[in-house]
Amino acid sequence: MPQAVAGPEIERLIQLLARMPGLGPRSARRAALQLIKKRETLLAPLAEAMRVAVERIVVCRECGNVDTCDPCTICRDHGRDPSMLVVVEDVSDLWALERSGAVTARYHVLGGVLSALDGVRPENLNLARLVERASVPEMKEIILALNATVDGQTTAHYVTELLAHLPVKVTRLAHGVPVGGELDYLDEGTLSAAIRQRTAF
Ligand code: ZN
Repeated sequence: MPQAVAGPEIERLIQLLARMPGLGPRSARRAALQLIKKRETLLAPLAEAMRVAVERIVVCRECGNVDTCDPCTICRDHGRDPSMLVVVEDVSDLWALERSGAVTARYHVLGGVLSALDGVRPENLNLARLVERASVPEMKEIILALNATVDGQTTAHYVTELLAHLPVKVTRLAHGVPVGGELDYLDEGTLSAAIRQRTAF
C-alpha cells in the first residue's frame, strides 16, 4: 500500500475516484487534485449534481434504462415505432445508438450478457420483461444489438430461442467493414463476416 499523502477525507475522495472505469490510482489522484483546486467551480457543482442524481435517478421498469422518471423519456415518447424493440446489453449501448440517430424504436436493456466465466445466468438478466414486451400484438421485430463478442453472441442465440414461439422477427446487427474502414487493417473474422453478409449494391 502506498503511503497516504493527504488527510483521510482527501484519501477517501481519491479512493472513490479510483473506482471509476479508466481511472487508476495515479489518474484518480490527478482528478482529485483538480477537483480540490477548482473547489468552487467544479467540486461543488459536481457534488450537487451527484446529490441530485442519487435522489432522482431511477431504473425504468419498462425497459431498464436510467432516467429521472419511470417510465423513462424514451418509453414515454409516443413518436417511437411500437412494432420494434432494440435489445442492448447496457445503458451505454442505448446511449451510443441514440447518438447515432438510427433508432426510431424503443429499447430493452438486458443489464449484462450471459457469461459462464462471470457466472451470469439467464435469471440475472432482464429477460422476463423482454418476453412480455415482445408478446404484445403490435410487436413485429426484435433487433438484437448485442456486442460481437462470444458472450454477446451466446446471449443473442439464447434470446432468439426464448422468443421463437412468438410471431416476431428476430434480427441482429450486421457484422462487417466499419464506415471509413480499410480492408487491409481488418482482422480475418471481420473480413469473412463482411464477405458472408454482403449486400446487393
Ligand atoms: Zn424506459
